[in-house]
Amino acid sequence: MLTNYERLAARNKEYLWHPFTQMKDYNNADPLIIERGEGMKLFDVHGRAYWDGFSSVWLNVHGHNVPELNQAITDQLGRVAHSTLLGMANVPAIELAEKLVEITPKGLNKVFYSDSGATAVEIAIKMAFQYWHNQGVRGKTRFITMNQAYHGDTIGAVSVGAIPLYHEVYRPMLFPSHVIPYPCAYRHDGGEREVLEATLTSLRHLLVARADEIAALIVEPIVQGAGGIVVMPPSCLREMSALCRKHGVLFIADEVATGFGRTGAMFACDLEEVTPDLMVVGKGLTGGYLPVAATLATDEIYQAFYADYQEQKTFFHGHSYTGNPLGCAVALASLKLMEERSMVEGVRAKAAFVERKLAAIKDHPHVGDIRQKGLMIGIELVRHKATREAYDWSERIGVRTSLRARELGMLTRPLGNVMVFIPPLAANEAELDAMTDILIESIISVTEGAH
Ligand SMILES: *Cc1c(COP(=O)(O)O)cnc(C)c1O
Repeated sequence: MLTNYERLAARNKEYLWHPFTQMKDYNNADPLIIERGEGMKLFDVHGRAYWDGFSSVWLNVHGHNVPELNQAITDQLGRVAHSTLLGMANVPAIELAEKLVEITPKGLNKVFYSDSGATAVEIAIKMAFQYWHNQGVRGKTRFITMNQAYHGDTIGAVSVGAIPLYHEVYRPMLFPSHVIPYPCAYRHDGGEREVLEATLTSLRHLLVARADEIAALIVEPIVQGAGGIVVMPPSCLREMSALCRKHGVLFIADEVATGFGRTGAMFACDLEEVTPDLMVVGKGLTGGYLPVAATLATDEIYQAFYADYQEQKTFFHGHSYTGNPLGCAVALASLKLMEERSMVEGVRAKAAFVERKLAAIKDHPHVGDIRQKGLMIGIELVRHKATREAYDWSERIGVRTSLRARELGMLTRPLGNVMVFIPPLAANEAELDAMTDILIESIISVTEGAH
């Protein structure tokens, strides 16, 4: 007789193709199969509990199975699950749009919904492109992105992506983008000042030479996520935005990972008082419950599309589930809880607590760099601390350390040799304490046992 787990595992192997996963590796191990969640923990079908140490890939805000969020969905379900935004509206989509305009940087006044970070990025790119076109400006068709940028996996988003492992194979089918250096102080002997200067100089030169060919720059504000949780030096974002403004290039902030309190401010742009022309949000918008994303635009962008129909300036873009009422209802409930519980304000103290805990491994010989902004943390593991020599990718140090963490009762997913710790914002100190203990123990045991 097969157990329930064995039956599920067999069907998982038979029918599913998992994202970002080499299925040959995956099928050689017993799969983790989640059955339910409660607070900061997920439970597998054996009933084993795991801390959600990466917020189920950077989404979760309040934990799992939250009564208020469940209720918001059930209430909306009793009214209508879905109706379209093509040519009509629905109640939660209106209310959420108003709320988003209220909490995002001043000047972003229009909300265009979609269903994932990648689609919201596509929308921002198409809006920026058509913004110039609609005004009769020809030739501003290119985009600037940053080295190691990640903006999602659809073709447009990959075209402004710059992580060779994910993106290079598709190069022949992508549109070309300009890539400027990302200011990563750890991988540069000159430190923060020099990497900041290198980024700004490169951007300045590019803008001086080619601004008339460039529609927009897209950036992950303050923290580059998938590139390895890399924090920009202070003032970098503000200066980049000012340079773009000066040279007539639109500024797109991709807040999909950094939005909704993750960095200690509601949005990372708030940390440097930057108002982008277009802002992309997703991930934490619904508290990690349902797939809703949005692209916010300034009045100036919106007005470039606002014309008599015959002028053909319409933004012809939409998705079947754009503005889904269930998703918008739970997003509203999540934002309400965030306010009631002063969660963004709370992130600072929690971040300081985590920072103190992680100081214990700061000098560990295989901990190269601990990078943190708010509750977004990356720990880069290295073979030699002094020389910053990296572990060879084939050693899969991050994967092995994450597997050890799972054995110890916490889920996370590494970025190459960088261990990721992105707990739900609602995690309290005791929970963060337990999670960081596992993180530290997994790093020590794997790196010290490795050779
Ligand atoms: C995750 C992410 C995306 C893509 O979002 P999806 O919902 O996975 O499509 C885009 N930009 C950034 C910065 C992200 O972290």
